[in-house]
Amino acid sequence: MNVLSSICYGGDYNPEQWPEEIWYEDAKLMQKAGVNLVSLGIFSWSKIEPSDGVFDFEWLDKVIDILYDHGVYINLGTATATTPAWFVKKYPDSLPIDESGVILSFGSRQHYCPNHPQLITHIKRLVRAIAERYKNHPALKMWHVNNEYACHVSKCFCENCAVAFRKWLKERYKTIDELNERWGTNFWGQRYNHWDEINPPRKAPTFINPSQELDYYRFMNDSILKLFLTEKEILRDVTPDIPVSTNFMGSFKPLNYFQWAQHVDIVTWDSYPDPREGLPIQHAMMNDLMRSLRKGQPFILMEQVTSHVNWRDINVPKPPGVMRLWSYATIARGADGIMFFQWRQSRAGAEKFHGAMVPHFLNENNRIYREVTQLGQELKKLDCLVGSRIKAEVAIIFDWENWWAVELSSKPHNKLRYCR
Ligand SMILES: [Zn+2]
Repeated sequence: MNVLSSICYGGDYNPEQWPEEIWYEDAKLMQKAGVNLVSLGIFSWSKIEPSDGVFDFEWLDKVIDILYDHGVYINLGTATATTPAWFVKKYPDSLPIDESGVILSFGSRQHYCPNHPQLITHIKRLVRAIAERYKNHPALKMWHVNNEYACHVSKCFCENCAVAFRKWLKERYKTIDELNERWGTNFWGQRYNHWDEINPPRKAPTFINPSQELDYYRFMNDSILKLFLTEKEILRDVTPDIPVSTNFMGSFKPLNYFQWAQHVDIVTWDSYPDPREGLPIQHAMMNDLMRSLRKGQPFILMEQVTSHVNWRDINVPKPPGVMRLWSYATIARGADGIMFFQWRQSRAGAEKFHGAMVPHFLNENNRIYREVTQLGQELKKLDCLVGSRIKAEVAIIFDWENWWAVELSSKPHNKLRYCR
């Protein structure tokens, strides 16, 4: 499935950080750089729905129209990656809880329990409102559901999750005797008489039952996938012809991407190799893995950085030419799109020191924007590559459930790692 007839080129665009006059400047700079697609509104829940059930789309209407007038299409975010402060205040039990019982508070992002009933209700209402608003806009080319699912909170251990886990186990094992048998609960006296005696594998005195732990991996993966499917069902209903995706993260342990990939229309993923390591062979392998998720279908590199990230201990910039080289390396392994986080570097917030396509203090000779523009103009000449396939000569078996199992505790070799 091709999103555009050209190679997709652009990045995450977070215009709500800037006054309106900057939006026009952005659109002109995008045009000059050859940008044809931006991911918009990914973290905009609190701006789109400033209070419970009250929606404000005027600003987003304006942004989308400006972009479209400048030849830029949109990969529209469903805005569900961060619940607003009003939601957290109203439903404090929507905050996730770690294995030690610590509540993860509002103030960064992705602070939600995937099994919270009101979260799901509110997501449904929000996604339908966005889809209905923009279903006929000619700029809309793709849906970007949530963002990097499970990136920060891959497991929640709260009571909502405990209830959902018991239900999941009941469907899997049917009887409590079968669960006892499969989990080997006669060892260490862990036998259960009733489903409601079972809890998530919370912090315990020592090694937890490994079958319980493995099932919790499966259960959490399924819980988070269910959130994605909830959104996808609505998007399909309102816009049956617009492709739906969510950005993966390569060999990301908590989510079984082979399972997930069956439900996206196109695989998209985020890649941030450390420039200190050169271009690691892992970069090639991850691109191959992402391409394999949908049996060789071209994918989109949804995020990379032009220069430096800000979340490692030491954040080295890419030397001149390296962004271009790695972008072509990704296209050579099957990508139909090269996108970045983010378009314009933030002036505040946790990622203000993270590189962007338009850095702080932009001027005519800025190296980063110059490289961005060069690549964008070059990619326009490569339309013939869109939809092309790579023929692999070697296969490597990669399996998430085996990864989870291999790295459980108390084995003969406890430093064995399935994948870095
Ligand atoms: Zn939970």
